[in-house]
Amino acid sequence: MSETVQKGLDEKFCSECGSIIKAKAEICPKCGVRQASSFANLGAVAPNGKSKLAAALFALFLGSFGIHKFYLKRVGMGILYLLFCWTFIPAALGFIDGILLLIMSDEDFNRKYGTI
Ligand SMILES: [Zn+2]
Repeated sequence: MSETVQKGLDEKFCSECGSIIKAKAEICPKCGVRQASSFANLGAVAPNGKSKLAAALFALFLGSFGIHKFYLKRVGMGILYLLFCWTFIPAALGFIDGILLLIMSDEDFNRKYGTI
């Protein structure tokens, strides 16, 4: 595959023929093959534009303030982290969250946080 075609944010490559199709398309209009997963070709950025790497970095460096929770639309958890930011607990939890985010597959991340 040496094509250099650009795909839009709401588009993906067909898993069968490689044509650019709508990200929400379940069946490729070109070859008619059903797509295995609507998130299969979205890479590191979820459909709502959330980046797993950004979330992980927020968690690692700003975890004690719950910034990654706000970023991932877990506002309730974010407020909890913020309330307890004077203890070491959110920092420790944020560090663990960051590691978990880093080792999480893009597909898991998209399923968990990408559609909010
Ligand atoms: Zn196709």
